[in-house]
Amino acid sequence: QYVWAHDQLTPQEEAGVHLQDRGYYFGDGIYEVIRLYDGKPFLWDEHFERFARSAAELDLPFPKPLEHIMQDMLTLIEANHVHNGIIYLQMTRGVQERNHLYSRDMIPVITAFTKEEDVPSHLQEEGITLWAVEDIRWLRCDIKTINLLGNVMAKRSAEDNGCHEALLHRGHTVTEGSSTNVFMVQNGVIYTHPADNYILKGITRQFIQKLCIEKGIPFEETAFTLEDLQDADELFIASTSHEIVPVNHVSGTMEKTLPSRSLTDQLQQSFQERKLS
Ligand code: PLP
Repeated sequence: QYVWAHDQLTPQEEAGVHLQDRGYYFGDGIYEVIRLYDGKPFLWDEHFERFARSAAELDLPFPKPLEHIMQDMLTLIEANHVHNGIIYLQMTRGVQERNHLYSRDMIPVITAFTKEEDVPSHLQEEGITLWAVEDIRWLRCDIKTINLLGNVMAKRSAEDNGCHEALLHRGHTVTEGSSTNVFMVQNGVIYTHPADNYILKGITRQFIQKLCIEKGIPFEETAFTLEDLQDADELFIASTSHEIVPVNHVSGTMEKTLPSRSLTDQLQQSFQERKLS
């Protein structure tokens, strides 16, 4: 099994990271997780477009042209013969003596690994529970940074309360999950938080939006509140790792059992058809 490190394919046991990498000190870096179905990357260009945007927002220069980085990642996928799984890649600002002020002379460090990982079909079939909790993260959740403490703490509290995922809300407004976007269905309309600084603009979210437009399903990028959720017909989460997963119940700062999942089922089915086409 290879990883990408030191700007080349590297046997996993030979890969090292410098102690003064700013990723360690400050979480100063960005990442992407991309799915592979039957060995083929899914929504590849879209993920790298977001990667480039995250880099630009953080004033992170690429150490080589993006097309070369994409080629390196394909080399890793091929070397590891990934069939169904993911590739994780990250880029940190690089190595520098600890100082909040970053230098613009550093060369960012790219590392990546692949993993065989099936989609969680049991969750997709059975549905999950969410733990509603205040969103305490910073105000640039649109950047896919490796600095994820708010997300990590929310996910832990969800698990500690017997739930699969967190339902984050700022005040009364629902934002997203700890590593997923959240969608509410009410009277046949799908609502999800607008892609502003309060959420990560999920690639899966984008794909679902496209599916909805194709199928004539009303899709509104309009935030909803915990009160709105009391009248919801369906709720689902979506991400690269989860695809589309229905929510059965929400507890925590609110309590709600979702009565239906028919539109979620329909979208799940379209997603399955389209991901392999
Ligand atoms: N929101 C957050 C906070 C995430 O970390 C993720 C994915 O990791 C998502 C949403 C879903 O994004 P994507 O569909 O691109 O995987």
